[in-house]
Amino acid sequence: MDPFDSNSTERANLPRNMIENSMFEEEPDVVDLAKDSAAFPTFPALDPDEVAYEPRSSRLLVRGLGENDMDEDEEDCESSARLLGMSFMNRSSAHRSNSSPYTRQAPPRSCSRPSARTMVVCVLFLVIVASMTMVLYFLPGCTFTKTGCRKENKTTPIEPPFPWSQFRLPHSIRPLSYDLTLNPDLDNMNFTGSTVIKMVVLHNTKRIVLHSANLNISKATFKLDDGEASDVTVLEYKPRQQIALNFSEELKAGQYCVLTLDYSANLSHTYDGFYNSSYTDKDGNKRVLAATQFEPLSARKAFPCFDEPAFKATFLIKINRKPDYMTLSNMPKAKTTPLNNGLVQDEFEMTSVNMSTYLVAFIVGNFTPVSKNVSEILVSVYSVPEKKEHTDYALDAASKLLDFYNDFFEINFPLKKLGEYPLALACFNPPMIVLSCLLPSLHTLICSLSFLSDLIAIPDFLAGAMENWGLITFRETSLLVGKQSSPLEKQVVASVIAHELAHQWFGNLVTMSWWNDLWLNEGFATYMQYMSLQTVLPQLDIGNLFLAVRFRALDKDALNSSHAVSTAVNSPEQVEEMFDSVSYEKGASILLMLNASLSGDQQFRKGIIQYLKQFSGLNTDTNDLWNSLTQIEVSTQHQNVSEMMSSWTSQKGFPLVTVSRKGDQVTLTQEHFLLTSDNATHTSSLWNIPVTYVSDNCSLAPECRQLFTLKTKSGTFKVPESVKWLKLNYRNTGFYIVHYGDDGWAALRDALANDVSVLTHEDRASLIHNIFALSRLGRVSFRHVLNLLNYISNETETSPVTEALLQLNKIYQLLDKRQEYSLVARMKTYILHHFGSLMDKQTWEEQESVSKQELRSALLETACGLDDENCTQQAKALFKQYVDSNATSRIPGDLQQVVFNVAAQSAEDWPTLLNLYGHATYDAEKRKMLRGLASTQDARKIVWILKAGLKGNLIQTQELPLVISTVCKGFAGYLFAWDFIQENWDRLIEKFPVGSFAIQTIINSATSQFSTQAHLDQVQGFFSSLKERGSQMRSVQEALETIRLNKRWMEKNLRTLQKWL
Ligand SMILES: [Zn+2]
Repeated sequence: MDPFDSNSTERANLPRNMIENSMFEEEPDVVDLAKDSAAFPTFPALDPDEVAYEPRSSRLLVRGLGENDMDEDEEDCESSARLLGMSFMNRSSAHRSNSSPYTRQAPPRSCSRPSARTMVVCVLFLVIVASMTMVLYFLPGCTFTKTGCRKENKTTPIEPPFPWSQFRLPHSIRPLSYDLTLNPDLDNMNFTGSTVIKMVVLHNTKRIVLHSANLNISKATFKLDDGEASDVTVLEYKPRQQIALNFSEELKAGQYCVLTLDYSANLSHTYDGFYNSSYTDKDGNKRVLAATQFEPLSARKAFPCFDEPAFKATFLIKINRKPDYMTLSNMPKAKTTPLNNGLVQDEFEMTSVNMSTYLVAFIVGNFTPVSKNVSEILVSVYSVPEKKEHTDYALDAASKLLDFYNDFFEINFPLKKLGEYPLALACFNPPMIVLSCLLPSLHTLICSLSFLSDLIAIPDFLAGAMENWGLITFRETSLLVGKQSSPLEKQVVASVIAHELAHQWFGNLVTMSWWNDLWLNEGFATYMQYMSLQTVLPQLDIGNLFLAVRFRALDKDALNSSHAVSTAVNSPEQVEEMFDSVSYEKGASILLMLNASLSGDQQFRKGIIQYLKQFSGLNTDTNDLWNSLTQIEVSTQHQNVSEMMSSWTSQKGFPLVTVSRKGDQVTLTQEHFLLTSDNATHTSSLWNIPVTYVSDNCSLAPECRQLFTLKTKSGTFKVPESVKWLKLNYRNTGFYIVHYGDDGWAALRDALANDVSVLTHEDRASLIHNIFALSRLGRVSFRHVLNLLNYISNETETSPVTEALLQLNKIYQLLDKRQEYSLVARMKTYILHHFGSLMDKQTWEEQESVSKQELRSALLETACGLDDENCTQQAKALFKQYVDSNATSRIPGDLQQVVFNVAAQSAEDWPTLLNLYGHATYDAEKRKMLRGLASTQDARKIVWILKAGLKGNLIQTQELPLVISTVCKGFAGYLFAWDFIQENWDRLIEKFPVGSFAIQTIINSATSQFSTQAHLDQVQGFFSSLKERGSQMRSVQEALETIRLNKRWMEKNLRTLQKWL
């Protein structure tokens, strides 16, 4: 997934071999409290070891899960019912409120909804039969437990109904295939469904536990091996979104079974699960559609399933629809059959490989495709009909990238042919009965020989895109490119496509076993997106973007609230939180570092191919990847990739490398670069760092680069005494920050002052980033930062300028919010003085080079943001021309944002811009207008736009995080935004899940502007009042840490700023 636009079990911590072994161990005792209780298949034989003497405390443990204590009467009735082999849930559903986490899902059977008379008869009957059973059963006088005859028989305590108490599912059952039939009703925004799950028993068990959320299951049948199918009762435990079947007799390892569940649900109103969406077409008509977004935990909202990435299976999907809609799913359509009720049924071919549930997708609506054949794959790009002409660029980019990946990975598009991965299909070697249902007909086999890869732009979509296998879903801004789009917009679209296509191998073909290793998906796709674009579309200058992304990843990972790349994940919120810059950008950064440090340019690729081939169709963890790369790496310098890389994935943060030099001897020392406000937190973390360096002897060409591996606290190497300066981390390919000491910094500063071209532009940007970071860490005075920046008036390259502007802007924003007016004015003068000549050089005409567009938009946005007269006049003139021409004249794409921002500051132009926004159809342009509108400094308009974003009519709710982050940048809006978030928190987390990237963005943008104790107290007070509604989020810790650091930095540097600015 590409989201950016957007405690207690130990399993996740276990090494791979332990996780796998645990699949074959008996499941934990604590959850077995009720394993006797199910009604399957009929009247169960009671097993005294299981039934009788669970300690009261254990029972309470499970009871506590549900916060649903039974009253005494219920307990008694329950006791009797259970002894009859009847389900507690079945019997007592009428007593249970909807708020109960334990919910009965099967249709009522005996004793349900009884009249008073029936009830009395029923209870009497139960009591009599139960008493007789107990008398017979407990005849020996005591019941044997594991510890022997422990106590005398008396009233048997009732075991609680739900048989599983863990967040992760048990591994005793493995799903093999799903047969899904869905009836979405787009008029009433609900759906019914039927799911047939074929499973194999991996080891003996008395329960089946799987996921289901917000589904009303109306019927459930179960069939074991060749037996008859019979009705079963489904227990539900809502807090964990789990359902379960209990069996009185063990299912035996090797047995096959089929569970069929019929259910109904509403289409979701949020952006996950099977959700409804609408848009207004060009004739002003409202159009509806239904789409899916399952990653990470929402497949269970569309169909009951084993919703964890390691439970791969095949999927056969059938969707009933009105004839005037169309449907799409992961696989090509096999056939369309008319139904009796005027609907038709589309049946898709069964997936040709095993697939994780989060990759399943289906869509109902009206979309138009454009298509192209690429290496026997028919690539299609879909959009709503009126945006069809915006799809050409995506089709072209996707075709080129598919070609590249097919070649790079030496594995053709993985979902292409049935039979390419027969072992994955038959990984549990099922007998023919299962195989025959996996391969229902020769027809299916033939149809599957050609494969479609679909990319579709969905009008209402929260994430940037989602890599569903064979049906990749996108936000419109991530896929559609208008005729007049700038290369910068093409860069966005190509990047997202490159990312999602890389997932078809990384993530879809080989999938992380659990969300703790999400980076295996996301770090890889992020890395491949930059790498592939450098080769396939070099004109997009993707290198600058990747460099900036690595700087931001360092900034985040420096906080104490960061986490290791692979980290324990034990709750839904923690799963959501994994979609962050550590999994994506740090993951990509360490892969770049690894690739750059391996000998030979093909080593990395060979290792990746080996990894993909070895684990094709399977699940992996981080060690599997390092082992594959270690097997390939033959150089003696890095004898062990695994040893090196685990230091980067198993601990949070990254190292600060300090350089000191005496004559020809250079000493490097490493420590954890940890930003903490208390100065008391230290860690002893060490990394295995492939340190690279260049010197004034040779500093630009790749051959100049020297490599030194620093594994211990410190290490030394020699350089010729004549060397004047050293620059470490050549082109910033390593994930660490360097401190050169006073002399080292002075030497580099002098060198740059003489000639900026002594270093590559990446190295110059890296020096700027590093010195600001060191100032934040408290290692260098801000005076040193300003000294280094003295060279910047001679700088002409994009990445050093944009990095310097970004860092200075951050400080400007903090001073502004603290109302340090004189410093704000001086900072403004400083920026305009140092960048003024470069700003003046920028034109307002069309500009082809992406890199120059990036430079120009950063400079002009800053200039106009600081009210530079020159800039604002030009922007106003362009806006007027645009409006006068009825929006037909062209504002260069990279300048649209600055023009709209300036327009939004004027009382007359803001409503004009709002009107344009209402009528614009091209989404990328629309977003820039929205950002402009939200940048207003008029309090009433700010309040209006925040509310409109939440309401979702004029401004789609998917844009609310963007609105909030823009409002927060301005002085007029940041406190309104903070109030708005506090007041509307519950509605926000209804729209965006706790921990999700959208919520992370909202919290970060609202709080990162604070730098005073009063605001720290407010933020702390608000989030701690949330309790389970978000107080435990990592982004909250990050927010508090950031405010403390801002406060500390301000207290320490205000005087320096007064003196030196
Ligand atoms: Zn992704």
